[in-house]
Amino acid sequence: MIAQAEQLLHQHFGYEKFRPGQEQIISRVFEGRPVMGIMPTGGGKSICYQIPSLLFPGLTLVISPLISLMKDQVDELKEAQVGAAFINSSLSYEETDAVIASVREGEVKVLYVAPERFEMPGFIQLLRTLDVALIAVDEAHCVSQWGHDFRPSYMRIPEVIGNLGQTPSLLALTATATPEVRDDICRAFGINADNVVQTGFARDNLSFHVLKGQARDRYITEYVGKNAGEPGIIYTSTRKEAERIHGMLENKGLAAGKYHGGMSGAARQSSQEDFVYDRIDVMVATNAFGMGINKSNVRYVIHFQIPGNIESYYQEAGRAGRDGEPSECVLLYSAQDVRVQQFLIDQGDGSDARKQNEMQKLRQMVNYCHTEGCLQSYILEYFGDSGAEPCGRCSSCTDTRETEDVTRDAQMVFSCIKRMNERFGKTMVAQVLTGSSNQKVREMGFEQLSTYGLMKSRTAKDVGQFIDYLVAEEYLRMTGSAYPVLALGEKAVPVLKGHEKVVKKAEQKVERVAETDPLFAELRELRRELAREHSIAPYMVFSDRTLKELCRVMPRDEQAMLTVKGVGEQKIEKYGTAFLERIAAYAEKNGDSDSTGSVDAAGSEAAGTAGYPAETVDDAPGGSKQADKVPSHFITFRMYEDGASLEVIAEERGIKRSTAGEHLLRCADEGEKVDFSRLVGVEVQDQVRNVVKEVDPSEGLKPVKEALPDGVEYFQIKAVLQGFV
Ligand code: ADP
Ligand code: MG
Ligand code: ZN
Repeated sequence: MIAQAEQLLHQHFGYEKFRPGQEQIISRVFEGRPVMGIMPTGGGKSICYQIPSLLFPGLTLVISPLISLMKDQVDELKEAQVGAAFINSSLSYEETDAVIASVREGEVKVLYVAPERFEMPGFIQLLRTLDVALIAVDEAHCVSQWGHDFRPSYMRIPEVIGNLGQTPSLLALTATATPEVRDDICRAFGINADNVVQTGFARDNLSFHVLKGQARDRYITEYVGKNAGEPGIIYTSTRKEAERIHGMLENKGLAAGKYHGGMSGAARQSSQEDFVYDRIDVMVATNAFGMGINKSNVRYVIHFQIPGNIESYYQEAGRAGRDGEPSECVLLYSAQDVRVQQFLIDQGDGSDARKQNEMQKLRQMVNYCHTEGCLQSYILEYFGDSGAEPCGRCSSCTDTRETEDVTRDAQMVFSCIKRMNERFGKTMVAQVLTGSSNQKVREMGFEQLSTYGLMKSRTAKDVGQFIDYLVAEEYLRMTGSAYPVLALGEKAVPVLKGHEKVVKKAEQKVERVAETDPLFAELRELRRELAREHSIAPYMVFSDRTLKELCRVMPRDEQAMLTVKGVGEQKIEKYGTAFLERIAAYAEKNGDSDSTGSVDAAGSEAAGTAGYPAETVDDAPGGSKQADKVPSHFITFRMYEDGASLEVIAEERGIKRSTAGEHLLRCADEGEKVDFSRLVGVEVQDQVRNVVKEVDPSEGLKPVKEALPDGVEYFQIKAVLQGFV
């Protein structure tokens, strides 16, 4: 059986071998007893019922929670030449009848339905007349009240199965592995402990980051801007915040979509499609978005706010990098948001026991944000997988940022809060420290405090951010209900006494998650074209990983192309020629006439501008192909270093002057010593520095530019703000 299963895996899906857990699950499914598979999001759960469906004579019924996603799942299977369909309320009677007819004829092997449909008497009636070989319950944690997505209709699934008059095999799948949830699922479906297959929860291609005290809006815009062209998701905990961030990105000209429960079904649907079909880069969403989204090339997931528990976090963050390519999961921590989550739990319905359970889960989530240990290990331990080695990728494992001793500033803040009797919020404290002559400050007589104006060289906003940092690090506590009041935390006392220091890390720099190879960019475009032609999502044509592998191998014939992971016979037939032609054209254009179809050092320095090498980006993974190709921004830098002016560079290279400026910024960012004084005179430097005292650059550079004399350019402003001059 398994040998046959492996062959089908290759033939239909183009994968070489099973991933951990898949084979164990599939072989147990064949034994006919109920099985549970626990694998992380992106682990490859679907294959565990898709492959058996091809081997079983009867129908495989998949119970999946969201009807909005069924179409994608079905499209994806059809791409792999697996007969699949769904029945839900989006179909007309005629369409439903047509589906039922193809099920009866055995053309449809996999049928998706929602649990609510599954329990309808008419549907049960239908199933009784069919040969149901396997029932796969996806997102099976929805059966558990301890899970984070409890759905009452899930609880009734076992009973309905009992009424089918036949005993199909059963497979429950979930990514949530807390012991309570696991036990609930086992109990509900009568799954024996021997038939629970749990794989490691580690996701080797994800790097987790927690950032505290970072200016979040600025971080987000910079991140999305730098990662243009790469799909990503930004999660917020409220609809309002999703709207705000979406607006902010759009204002900056970044193509973003939004998704939350306050939008109409149609608007959500179209937004989701824009994202799945790569028409927009980034989706700003509440947790309403994403369950079951199979888009495999999501390169980053940023949580603008802390989610309520680790299960939700890992599931949402885990939507990054399903294709196995390096991807980032960033959580922007602010203590204030913890209060929002507490409030949500408090206001929610449910018993006290349940609320207590949720509060406990929230505390573990907060601890994640404060741990100095490996973040991936923390998550694994949470799921009962202890003793993991540090991952070497997360923000704890890789933190080499410089630290700054801010003890004196912290002492000023602490003593000011103390003198204000721990009865005021952040804004007021910051105003007193910066010596504001605000009416309220005067009315309260705070001008008399010895701490009044102690930090007057800084802006109130800046001090406010520093206070956020101190709260995030638990030196300060937020108390009060209607309106948050600052009080000293336990950690503040030794600092005030001068026994302990406070150090602050520099802000995290934003970098691109994935570099792009020009061939990759071309293949991605081709993928988009083909997807449009076939009305499917681009990632269903080939995953990012497969595209990268194609770039590396550069196959010249079908045989060579078949060795690439993710390329099966079905796909070759449909897309082989198009890709092979595009790759050959690319090779030709780049003077690489070699036709072995293997990795090779292209070597040929195609004619570039004015003696500089041709423009390419140096990120063909693995091979040495890129050895002497120089990234574009670096070519600009070399010309600049040789004394060329921006005008000359722009002219020679056929790029805009501003682009050349951005190239230099990027080099500086990467640590090159770029002499910006040639481009930004002292006068302009002063002007910029003066303007940002009034106009906050974290709200975007446009207002800053508008406040400056005409002719000052964005890259000049950035050079000053980033400290390159
Ligand atoms: P899950 O449901 O566990 O979150 P999926 O079933 O959606 O994950 O699979 C995630 C990705 O992994 C998909 O793009 C899928 O095609 C891919 N995948 C699954 N099994 C394999 C395998 N054996 N080898 C390579 N890729 C696989
Ligand atoms: Mg899944
Ligand atoms: Zn780590």
